[in-house]
Formats: sequence, C-alpha cells, structure tokens
Amino acid sequence: MSALPSPSNSTEPLQILHEVFGYQAFRGPQAPIVDHVVGGGDALVLMPTGGGKSLCYQIPAIARQRAGHGVAIVVSPLIALMHDQVGALHEAGVNAAFLNSTLDWAQTQDVERRLARAEITLLYAAPERVTTPRFLELMDGLASRGKLSLFAIDEAHCVSQWGHDFRPEYRALTVLHQRYAGVPRIALTATADALTRADIVERLQLEEARQFVSSFDRPNIRYSIVEKKDATTQLLRFIEREHEGEAGVVYCQSRKRVEDVAVALQSAGINALPYHAGLDSAVRQKHQDRFLREDGIVMVATIAFGMGIDKPDVRFVGHLDMPKNIEGYYQETGRAGRDGAPADAWMVYGLQDVVNQRRMIDESPAGEEFKQVMRGKLDALLSLAEASDCRRVRLLGYFGEQSTPCGNCDNCITPPQVWDGTDAARKLLSTIYRVQQQSGISFGAGHIMDILRGKATEKVKQFGHESISTFGLGAEFSEVQLRGVLRQLIATGALAVDTEAFNTLKLTEGSRAVLKGEASVALRESVSSPASRSGGKTRREKTPRGAPSPAAAALDAAGQARFAALKAWRAEVAREHNLPAYVIFHDATLATIAERAPVTLEDLQGISGIGSKKLEAYGADVLRVCSSF
Ligand code: ADP
Ligand code: ZN
Repeated sequence: MSALPSPSNSTEPLQILHEVFGYQAFRGPQAPIVDHVVGGGDALVLMPTGGGKSLCYQIPAIARQRAGHGVAIVVSPLIALMHDQVGALHEAGVNAAFLNSTLDWAQTQDVERRLARAEITLLYAAPERVTTPRFLELMDGLASRGKLSLFAIDEAHCVSQWGHDFRPEYRALTVLHQRYAGVPRIALTATADALTRADIVERLQLEEARQFVSSFDRPNIRYSIVEKKDATTQLLRFIEREHEGEAGVVYCQSRKRVEDVAVALQSAGINALPYHAGLDSAVRQKHQDRFLREDGIVMVATIAFGMGIDKPDVRFVGHLDMPKNIEGYYQETGRAGRDGAPADAWMVYGLQDVVNQRRMIDESPAGEEFKQVMRGKLDALLSLAEASDCRRVRLLGYFGEQSTPCGNCDNCITPPQVWDGTDAARKLLSTIYRVQQQSGISFGAGHIMDILRGKATEKVKQFGHESISTFGLGAEFSEVQLRGVLRQLIATGALAVDTEAFNTLKLTEGSRAVLKGEASVALRESVSSPASRSGGKTRREKTPRGAPSPAAAALDAAGQARFAALKAWRAEVAREHNLPAYVIFHDATLATIAERAPVTLEDLQGISGIGSKKLEAYGADVLRVCSSF
C-alpha cells in the first residue's frame, strides 16, 4: 500500500476542490464566483437547485480561513438540516459547526468558545440567531481581530415577500452589512424572477455585489402537467408505471390531503410518509430523517417540506395541487434529480386549482397592490399549465431565458391535439349572461353546462332556464370539454368565480373580447388516459425495484457485486455516523470504485468524490470490501 498524499494547506481554490472535495473541475460559473469571493468581493448567486451553490461559499471560507481571515458565518433558515450539512463537511475534513436550539447548554458553550477563538472554518446558524445581541457580540469580538472572513446567506429569496418562502427574520440581516462593512457577503438562491432578485438586492443592501446568474435549465428533469381527474389514482398509476421503489416527493396543499394521500399510497404498498406543519416536530424530524437515510421513500408533504433538502437521488416530484406561482413550482420540482440523472416533475391540474388559488389571493388580508402582483404570478403559472407548446421554453422564458423546444417535456414528446374552443367559449359566456339577465342571480359551472348541453334538470326547470335561448345549443360538447373551456376562461381572466357566492360564475371585462369573437380560445384536447398518450410505448425504460442505479447499470457482474458490497458497507458507516448515506459517498462514486476494482490507495485517487480526508478515513476499508471479490 502506498503512502497517502499529505494534505496541503493551499489557499488555491482548485487545489481545495481536489483535495477537500475530491472533485476534478469547477462546474459552470463556480470558478469565477469563488475567485470573486476569495478576493473579498460581494456576490449574489442565482443558480438552479443542484447547480452546486454550496461550494461557492465553502471553498472561499476554507481559502480565507487558511489565509488567516478567520470564521465564515453561514446563514441558513433550516435548523433541522444543519446537523447533516455540518456532518458532510466533517466527512470532508472541514472544521464546521452549527449553533441552534438542538444543542444543549454545554455543547453551545463549547461551540461559542471555539467560535470566539476563531477555530471554526464555517459556522451555520439561523437568521434569528445571527441577529441576537449575544451573537452580534461574539461577531464583534471576531471582527475587531479581523477574524470574520465571510457571510454566506443561503436561500436568500427568503428575504423577499415576492418569493415563496418569506421569512421576516431575513430582513434583520441588513445589520451584517451595516455593522461589518468590510466583510464580504455572498447571497445565494435557486429562485429569482426579476422582481424577487431586485428585492433581494434592495433588502440585503447588495447594490454593489456582483451578480452571477446561471442558466436555470435543469435538462434532466422532464416536465409533465396532466388534467386532474382522480388525483390520487393518477398518482398511484404514475408511481407504479414509472417510479416503483424510487424516492420522490408529492406536494399537496392541505394537511388533511397530505394525510389522506399518504394513507392511500401506503395501502397500495408504497413506502410513503406524511409531512406537514401540523405534525409533532419530533414526528416531522423522524420522517425527514427516514426520507434522507432510507432508500425509496415517497414523502407526501405540504410545502413546509423540502427547502434545503439536498438528497441527490429524488427521482420524481409530484404536485397534486397547483402551487401559487412559477417560482414555487420551479423550486419544488427542482428537488428532483440533483444528481443529474433523469427525473420527473409531474403535476395534475384542474378547474378547482384555478378557483382555489384565485380565492386565496382574493381572501388574503394583503393590500390591493400586493394582490395584483400575486394575480400576475398566478396567471403566468396558469398559462404554463394550459400551454400546448414546450413547457421548458415557457418556464425558462419566465426567468428571462430564451430557449428552443426541449424534447424532454410532455408537450414536446407527445404534442397534444389542439381544438378550437372559441365557439364553445362564446356559448358558455352568453349563457352566463342570459341567465344572469333572466334570473337576476349567478349560477355555478354545473348548472351553466347543463343549460348549454340541453339537460332539463330539476334546477333548470325550477328556474325556467329551458327558455334561455342557448338551451341545448352546445349539445355536441362533452362536459369534459366544457370544463376545459371554463377552466381556460377563468385561467385567462375572461371569466371570474365568485367564491363568496357559492362559486358562481361572473362575466368580467375580459369576457367581452371572447363574446365578440375577437379573442380565440385554443385548448389541449382532453386526454382520457395518460398511458394512451404515448401510443402504448413506455416513456422511459422503467427501472425495476431493487435494480442498480443508472450509474451502476453499466457494470459487469463482478462490478455489480462490488457495488452491492460497497453500498452495504456505506449503509453501515452512515448509520454509525448518523448521516445520510450519500454524505459518505454518492452512488456515482461507489459505481466508479466498483468499476476500477482498486487494489492500492493510488487506484482510488482522482475518483470524483474522494477527497484526501475520505481517502484517509475510508480508503483502506474500501479496498478491503473490493478485495473480497
Ligand atoms: P445546490 O445547493 O446548488 O442545490 P449543491 O451545492 O447541493 O447544489 O450541489 C449539488 C451536487 O453537485 C452535490 O452533490 C455536490 O457535491 C455536487 N457538486 C457541486 N459542485 C461540483 C463540482 N464542481 N464537481 C462535482 N460535483 C459537484
Ligand atoms: Zn419541451
């Protein structure tokens, strides 16, 4: 066995990347960001989930600490994840710590003492902690000795009310700039439309910061939005057909629905767990830990779940209810496929989603100006859902990026039939108008459709609506078609739902253009069964339960055996260290090891994901595991 290379104390970013993290090269804009921050500049980093934001502050923190600048403070909103984040750094041999309410008095004392002595390279804390008098005093002490090296503000969109995770505590972070003007700051987020971005700059006083905006494309994620029928059954089919035994997240709007769906999946034999703010915090933590540590768990959750979750092998994100806006949709779907392997973003969407989201805005206590912005954002998401052209082009367009049809979304793979709903739309609107004229009150969608389709129901007879001139004029349309037309009319604002009055339908300013035939209505042809969409062929070769991960699929039999043994060994280590398995080594790293069949430590060098600390800590064990074949 050859000697290990001795760890250098280099302040060179690329050297740190090789030695500490075991990676060969910087990705995308990481290198210029790191250089800028190592040099003491402020930065605002907009990079999609999985793009590699953590290294953008971790490497500068290490470099600056080695150069004698002291401690980097990482502001992170998620106490529940700090343990794993710091654990991952420990595994790489980095001196990191966190301060939060999960520590007892003695542990807190210990961290504070090490902090005061600037013995820590990265300290993680939540914004409410960072801005306490006690913490400020600690930082004052460090700053007076030039030992405060950097502030990293993770999930920076939390500072903005236009983002989807507004945390008022983030607003207090302006103190960092005011009190420690000379200390560089790097703010990072995976979400930012222009409005949110401007807000982050203003709120965090980052006017002088250099902005690094990456492409927001996540090419490995396949976007699909299907019409909602029986959402739970649709979800079950989707999982069985495409993601059996794989890890995923399913978002629902309400706690009740989370519970119901989790139970439904469990009864179908799927390893599902619920997560929402109404659960006891110990239960939440337990479910989150299981999701991170076990294979193939489906987390059914409200949006309370997911921020900061860096599990790399989430194979799908489902939405059973529509989010509020594209930022939310993009952020949530972005949790799929961080490892770059194929993943699905799948949403079911229906009329009720439109009605619910509009109502939530209408009923919110916010000011009219705020509501207008929220309506605009909702409209953008609705047109994404209604679109019959490339979803990705629209999604990226929303973030200001031009692109061409992607070939990896539902509309690109199976272009939907489009039918002209203009005539149906005019008839619906005119029925609504006439009924209102005749009866002096408004009615809901079901009744209006009955009239147009010529169904003489009790209610139709009771109100004498058989005499309305459009009665029976739309007999050729199916209810599904009319519902689709109504949904699109509401989605585009050509019709309103009065949620205060039994969800009755009301004409709007926007109705006029459609009534006059000046605006046309194009609709996706309703697809009766999503499976039939691809004409019987499976969309992707399904990975059967228990099959090796994509990276390992190419291994020969001996390689497969080594891979399986390495995974078993990794599970053991992860359990001992109370960390998720991927923090020890990613699947891709284990697959490369298995392929190389290493005999000496040198054989392990240069494998992506094996830094010098991991080589030292695990190299011999890995060789032992491999040598048994
Ligand atoms: P983000 O915070 O932007 O969502 P992470 O920082 O969690 O992304 O990085 C996503 C994944 O990519 C992680 O598993 C990380 O180890 C890996 N990664 C980041 N940068 C590199 C790089 N330069 N080379 C190889 N892997 C990288
Ligand atoms: Zn596409």
